[in-house]
Amino acid sequence: MSRATAILHPGQPVTLAPGGNISFEIEAGKKLKLTQPEGEQVADFISFNRDDVRELLSMHSSRAVNLNWKLTAPDVLYSNRTREMWQIEEDLTRENYCGGGYCSEHLNVARYGEVGKGAPNCQSNLEMAVRGYGMDRWSFNVDACFNVFMTVAYDENGVWEIRSPKGKPGDYIVMRALMPQIVAISNCPVLFNPCNNFRLKPLTLEILK
Ligand SMILES: [Zn+2]
Repeated sequence: MSRATAILHPGQPVTLAPGGNISFEIEAGKKLKLTQPEGEQVADFISFNRDDVRELLSMHSSRAVNLNWKLTAPDVLYSNRTREMWQIEEDLTRENYCGGGYCSEHLNVARYGEVGKGAPNCQSNLEMAVRGYGMDRWSFNVDACFNVFMTVAYDENGVWEIRSPKGKPGDYIVMRALMPQIVAISNCPVLFNPCNNFRLKPLTLEILK
């Protein structure tokens, strides 16, 4: 019995509701397709080595090996042991934030005040998604999070700004798993900034045949 929240059968797409979360397992060599049916929706994506969950995706390792902070096809994403985890094979939007991080209640309160209390956020979504494995909030960290379809801009003075996403309806990314993994995705529920252009939309997931 899987401890994931879902089992993805190759060739059968699954829709993740606006603000929803999911975990599932993927075998090495399989390709995961993540689609924005309506566009303009960010996915907060973490994954673990299924055989040893202390090894997880690392944006730091991925940036440091690729010598780039805007990773897209055909870049490889690395683990915290700097081993290959994913190869991005196709990416129509070509906008993914690779600085690490996800929205959380404490971050929302710090940035937006009291309205952040109890508001849906990616940290609790991801925590819910991995709970079946006996993992919790401390089993992953901000460095593990690949912000798929998210637009962040830095200017020459170091100003860091979340901007409206650029994904068009039907845009997708295809990533090939390079080791067996547990994947958890939060369909980002934040409405306090332009991350999802102030409207939450579904995402579609499919392990390709
Ligand atoms: Zn989020």
